[in-house]
Amino acid sequence: MTKPENDLRQRFIFDNSDIRGEILSLQGSYQTILGQTNYPPAIAHLLGEFLAGACLLSATLKFDGIISLQASGTGPLSMIMADCTHHHDIRAIAHYQSELFENPDSSLNQIPYQLHELLGKNATLAVTIDPTKGERYQGIIPVEGNTLSDCLTNYFNQSEQLPTRIWLQADKRRVGALLLQALPTELQSPEEKQQHWHHLSLLAQTLSPAEQLQLSHAEQLHRLFHEESLRLFPPSDIRFACSCSAERTATMLRAFGQQEVTAMLEDTDPIEVSCQFCHRLYRFDEDEIKRLFSHKSPTLH
Ligand SMILES: [Zn+2]
Repeated sequence: MTKPENDLRQRFIFDNSDIRGEILSLQGSYQTILGQTNYPPAIAHLLGEFLAGACLLSATLKFDGIISLQASGTGPLSMIMADCTHHHDIRAIAHYQSELFENPDSSLNQIPYQLHELLGKNATLAVTIDPTKGERYQGIIPVEGNTLSDCLTNYFNQSEQLPTRIWLQADKRRVGALLLQALPTELQSPEEKQQHWHHLSLLAQTLSPAEQLQLSHAEQLHRLFHEESLRLFPPSDIRFACSCSAERTATMLRAFGQQEVTAMLEDTDPIEVSCQFCHRLYRFDEDEIKRLFSHKSPTLH
């Protein structure tokens, strides 16, 4: 057995076929994110799947930008989101009512997670694509199905994009993910493509959670598709990185308006703003706040 990959994404193609795939594994980046907040186990697993889902979706984009996946609901878990940039920088966060997760026997702490119980009724999943250049796009679908994999498959079915299936799996240590996508190319006849798609989807369906989390990419693909002629491309690194900065925090403060920020300063000097993704602390004292609202501020554009 070869060692499983850490924080890598790899593309693969089937020769003479219009179907391609992505496979990825997260470990260090996932552990870094989990290490910042003491998430209940079910939320941690779901957060891992959101991270992997955002990475897989970013791999399907043809342009630079950020893709984010966010679910919101009225349940004990009110919001969970992950985003991934075209540099494969990932980050994630969840907001939840911690007191409801204190009892280890609560069904909320059940593994595998219970998506509907966590998010509550009328939950939605938003997929946001924010290109570096160009218009922001957002698709919102109701949360249906028991897993994030089901929700994302529904998203692709409803948004009339390319036929896509996603399989996500997380435990407290690692995350594994697999994607199959049928391209609009015409190497195969429509009937052949349809048949091949069906066949590959059924094979991928047989991958067990343990295999997805413990085997190397090559071993997973061999286990599923050894009868196919398949090419695995070199990997891309994925890492945890937060895009917050003093400038962006200052812009956010400025949006509150001078009056409100001055009032904040009367309560606490300096004002402290902590990034919700990486917990980095930004401090603004009286002089800095004055500069922030003066026209010749050197830090703002
Ligand atoms: Zn940050």
